[in-house]
Amino acid sequence: KAKALGDGSFQFFEPVMCLEAKRRLQLEAALHRALEHRQFALHYQPRVDLRSLRTLGVEALLRWQHPEFGSIPPLEFIPLAEERGQIGNIGRWVLGAACRDVKHINDRYGLALHVSVNVSARQLRSPDLIGQVHTALADSGLPAGSLELELTESALIEDLDQSVQVLRGLKALGVRLSIDDFGTGYSSLSYLKRLPIDVLKLDRSFLAENPAGDDFLRSLIGMAHVLKLSVVAEGIEHRAAMEALRDASCDEGQGYLFARPMPLDALEAFLAQEDGARACQPELSHEKPQ
Ligand code: C2E
Ligand code: MG
Ligand code: MG
Ligand code: MG
Repeated sequence: KAKALGDGSFQFFEPVMCLEAKRRLQLEAALHRALEHRQFALHYQPRVDLRSLRTLGVEALLRWQHPEFGSIPPLEFIPLAEERGQIGNIGRWVLGAACRDVKHINDRYGLALHVSVNVSARQLRSPDLIGQVHTALADSGLPAGSLELELTESALIEDLDQSVQVLRGLKALGVRLSIDDFGTGYSSLSYLKRLPIDVLKLDRSFLAENPAGDDFLRSLIGMAHVLKLSVVAEGIEHRAAMEALRDASCDEGQGYLFARPMPLDALEAFLAQEDGARACQPELSHEKPQ
């Protein structure tokens, strides 16, 4: 309930709060039916090798297109789905669709792209996760090594001992694991030593605060390499940032500079164009990643 603020301003706030609460309720109800109404789609954003600039993989990013509310961003509906216990079904759909799509692209174009799928805190705690991953791989025929799961630091740290158990189970399937949004939370390299992680994804905000030219970032990337982690920079928008990160030994990059997240058909066109461009630039095509 809105409170009287003494100056009568509640008269303005109360309707706004009601609207927000109403929208939330409507979204909750709509989310419940979004899967069966086929309102979800995956967009794919390329992840490129910073030396060869080749696309090595893609990240699957979930989109919810509602006929009335329009396009609802994941940062708005994922937390809602977590709260309402719907993330399990949605996550299962994402895993299945992402593996299927990338298997299709790899077969069709003779590629070996990997696909990264985001896994939320609640999904990580679900006893279902390992089975879901196994099923998605078996149904699609995508090799386990081509699937990467992105986990956030905050989700892992909630219960580190349990996380270690779950991650070991996932590693036993043969998938790759990455830490997403590194630098937004606790950001301690010491806990990473305890986890069977393959990839560190540096968050865009972290990179904004720690420009690639500075020694701190260079050292952090060096430490990650000591821990046998591959380092990916998120949110690269400018060429200068890309070059500085590459000079700091960052392995891969993702961001609007290379490509925005896009639907599957646009990704196919992007990859075909990339392949064509490479045929015209022999110096790029002979460069081997790492
Ligand atoms: P994330 O996993 O860190 O994904 C990267 C986000 O950065 C994406 O936002 C992407 O569109 C955006 N991005 C990429 N390059 C750039 C850039 O150069 N500049 C800027 N400004 N942004 C860039 P998006 O798609 O809105 O997703 C937001 C978050 O929602 C994701 O962050 C992830 O945590 C979550 N999410 C998305 N899809 C799923 C999903 O299927 N399952 C779960 N559990 N979470 C998801
Ligand atoms: Mg991610
Ligand atoms: Mg991220
Ligand atoms: Mg992020």
